[in-house]
Amino acid sequence: MSADPRKPVLVIGLGRFGSAVAATLERMGHEVLGADADAEIVRDHKDALTQIVEADCTEIETLRRLGAAEFDTAIVAIGTNVEASLLAVLALVDLGLPNIWAKATSERHGRILERTGAQHVVFPEQKMGERVAHLVNERLLDFISFDGEFAIARLRAPEPIIGLPLVTSQCRKKFDVTVVGVKRTGEDFIHAVPDTIIMPEDELVVSGRIDRIEAFSALCA
Ligand code: ADP
Repeated sequence: MSADPRKPVLVIGLGRFGSAVAATLERMGHEVLGADADAEIVRDHKDALTQIVEADCTEIETLRRLGAAEFDTAIVAIGTNVEASLLAVLALVDLGLPNIWAKATSERHGRILERTGAQHVVFPEQKMGERVAHLVNERLLDFISFDGEFAIARLRAPEPIIGLPLVTSQCRKKFDVTVVGVKRTGEDFIHAVPDTIIMPEDELVVSGRIDRIEAFSALCA
């Protein structure tokens, strides 16, 4: 179940990850209640979030008093303190929230979060580590993978397809990747169509298997 833009979201733990999630949700139009046990963190984020409370969210009674049971969606963004993360998820499960997201710092943490009842477990550090590994050789400008096999990446146009319309360069047949979008210098991305001619400074968004994308990007001059 995804979060409705008008529905409020409870964000527990306003460290680097939680505060970024909370601020983005507010920008997207969600009403956000942020909660953190640390008074200093709450003070630091007072101006960034519309609603923020200082509370130890491991106690079901505390969460009940905050009105947590009225939320459909909560995000438990406590990572370092695994016990607190699990207790907060357990309390939200006991309150009957149908849409609990939790951040895991390790595979084992993630497995226990799932067993505890979190419907969505995310691994931001692992995901970012994997992404950076694909970016360090500087051939890929951005990268997002799915199931460890398939990816969408942003890269500079490789030499063999420059000056040709996509229908002629036959990227899917020759390189096993699909060019999804094209960005000319100083312009926005546009959808790639068969007669889009690729220019030397173009950036592309391509999709395909990770090894195929890596091989395609290696063709850059
Ligand atoms: P990050 O790596 O995203 O900064 P951390 O795990 O270091 O994540 O930070 C998590 C945040 O969760 C901290 O601001 C911490 O004060 C808060 N936190 C930890 N325990 C609790 C709790 N029991 N209730 C509410 N917030 C908590």
